[in-house]
This record gives sequence, C-alpha cells and structure tokens, in this order.
Amino acid sequence: MRIFEPHAHMYCRLTDDYERMSLAGITTIQEPAFWLGTCRTTPESFYDYFEHITVFERKRAERYGVRHYQSIGLNPKDAKNLALTVPCVKGMRHFFDRPSVIGVGEIGLDDNTQEELEGMRIQIELAQELKLPALIHTPHVNKRLGVTMIRDTIVANPQWNRDLLLVDHITEETIDLVRPLGVWTAMTVYPVTKLSPERAVAMLKRYGPEKLMVNSSVDWGESDPLSIPRVVRLMRREGFTENDIENFVWKNPVRFWGQSGRLVETV
Ligand SMILES: [Zn+2]
Repeated sequence: MRIFEPHAHMYCRLTDDYERMSLAGITTIQEPAFWLGTCRTTPESFYDYFEHITVFERKRAERYGVRHYQSIGLNPKDAKNLALTVPCVKGMRHFFDRPSVIGVGEIGLDDNTQEELEGMRIQIELAQELKLPALIHTPHVNKRLGVTMIRDTIVANPQWNRDLLLVDHITEETIDLVRPLGVWTAMTVYPVTKLSPERAVAMLKRYGPEKLMVNSSVDWGESDPLSIPRVVRLMRREGFTENDIENFVWKNPVRFWGQSGRLVETV
C-alpha cells in the first residue's frame, strides 16, 4: 500500500518523523509553504524559506526513500499585509521553474479579512496562469464564514478551472458549501482542533471519495505524521477494500497534484 501525504510541513519536523512515515508506507510528501510563527517583513525572507523547502527538505526526505514535492505561496497569516504580498507574489515566479514545485499554496483565509481574500485571489490567478494546482487553507475560527467567502470568490470567477482548486481542512460544517462547486476538497486529521480518523472516515462514507483527500497537515503543533496510516487502518477495520483505500490515499492525490505535469507518480 502506497500513501501520498498531500499536506505536511516537514520543515518543522524531526528526521524521526521521516523514519516513521516511510516505514508506515508514505512514499510521497507534498509540502506547502506556510506561516513560520512570526510574520516576515521582506519578500527576500520568503524566498530564503522557499529555497529551503525546495532544496534542503527535498534532500532530507530522499534519505528516507520519500519523494518530496512543494507548493509555493503566501499563507493567509502572511498575506494580510498586501504591501508585502503583491511584490512578493510577483518576485516568486522563478520558483515555479523548479521541477519539484507542483502548485501554489498554501493560500486562503485566516481571519477572513478583505486583504487576505485579495492575497488569495491574486495567487489563484497566478496558479491558473501557470496551469498549476492551488491549495486553499480554510480558517480554524469562523470556519463557515471563511469557506463561504472562498466559495463566493470562486463563484465570482467562472473562468477559473475548478479542477485545479483544492479547498483544504474541510469538516462536516463546511463540506456542503464547496462540494457542489466541483472543486477538490481535503480533510485534515489532527489530534486537536481538526478531524479524528473516525470523523474523516465517516465523512468519506457519507460523501464518497470523488475529489476528496485526507492529510495530516503536520506542523510544529500537536499534529501526527501518521494520521493517514491511521485512517488506512480504520478503513481496513471498517471493511473498505484495498482498492478503495488506494483510490483514496494514493490515486486521488496523484490525480490532483498530477495536473501539474510534474509528478513521477502515476495512478
Ligand atoms: Zn498547512
């Protein structure tokens, strides 16, 4: 059983996590750029970080037999400051020439402000121009309001290719807002604040696997790099076939991120 982890911030994880993830069957990781805990003050500070995840982190993963891809972008916590976001987005284009960079992310909303929304919109425009997938983060508080704002922005831009849009951290409270749009969706299994394996599998049963993924979103918080293997184990216990499991934890992320044309992995 191969597992594709489509959202993990390995930047802040120990090498022990690569060890455990690779032993649990994770062969491929997609690492989106994110907020580092303090707001950066210059575009160059972002570029040094993008350099780090696209070069150093990829090599660190390789030592454990894990292929590492990245998405590049300004997280909503960073994108609040449009005076920094706009020049930074303009200047980061050369990172998309790197073969391991497969999308724009993570972008989206945090406090649901108009500045964050504009930061998301210009980065979706960039992703669409480059014909690359975009990973859209949804907020932890006022989640339904944030997802409604994201939905309305997508609806207001019918020219966007929705196959290239992934709305992440979806829960029972928000899935109904975005599923009808035909975009991709992802659930995050996280020990606190997000979903348990049980809730994720219940949502999978209710809504079906079409354009649905699961991830751990591991970062520096109380997160679990084995979230997807735990979902796999629960799916087996609940009677899903190996084909069902492979479709969910391998083929779906390969289908979505494979739209970049840059994946070695195939379905
Ligand atoms: Zn994230």
